Amino acid sequence: MKLGVLALQGDFAEHGSALRRLDVEVVEVRLPRHLEGLSGLIIPGGESTTISRLLREYGLLAPIRERVQRGMPLMGTCAGAIVMAKTAIGLHQENLGLMDITVRRNAFGRQVDSFEADLEIPALGAPPLHAVFIRAPTIETVQPGVEVLARLADGTVVAARQGHLLALVFHPELTADPRFHAYFLRMAEQATTPGQEPVVAAGSGDPSRP
Ligand code: GLN
Repeated sequence: MKLGVLALQGDFAEHGSALRRLDVEVVEVRLPRHLEGLSGLIIPGGESTTISRLLREYGLLAPIRERVQRGMPLMGTCAGAIVMAKTAIGLHQENLGLMDITVRRNAFGRQVDSFEADLEIPALGAPPLHAVFIRAPTIETVQPGVEVLARLADGTVVAARQGHLLALVFHPELTADPRFHAYFLRMAEQATTPGQEPVVAAGSGDPSRP
């Protein structure tokens, strides 16, 4: 299993280490050709403005969009979640715009720039996940088809999944708990297992088929 980590800016090295601990082969993606043969891609935390600008400058916006639209799993953490969102309030740059969520940059304001919280995440099971938030965005709205995976105690959405897209506004790459990287690895395995691909049902009305 070969997974890519977008390595233009931000804490891509920590994501690489987290994946290697799960015996995943990691490719640092800086150019379109680095996307060849990947079973999934992670966009790290950092600055969403810088990452979005560099994605455009390095010609990566269209190739990543095409691959994800064809089914390549994508995970974004913090700035990465902002780069994935269809609507990103406070981001004045073109982003990937792939996931049906609205995020708000720096939504927690200055007083609570950074904080930590234990999150109950049914998709990961017990125990709660210790999550680190650093100038995090919030997920303000999720459109139909998007599953909320985690909320803060006040109801704020902080993790969501839409099929092969996973957005987290905190940083699982900065703690030792491997469960979200393992979860994404399973998403990538499911996407590349032939038996799991959408199958056209027999007799589905295509007249060119016997
Ligand atoms: N505040 C940053 C942004 O808006 C995100 C911070 C982070 O990734 N830790 O891009």
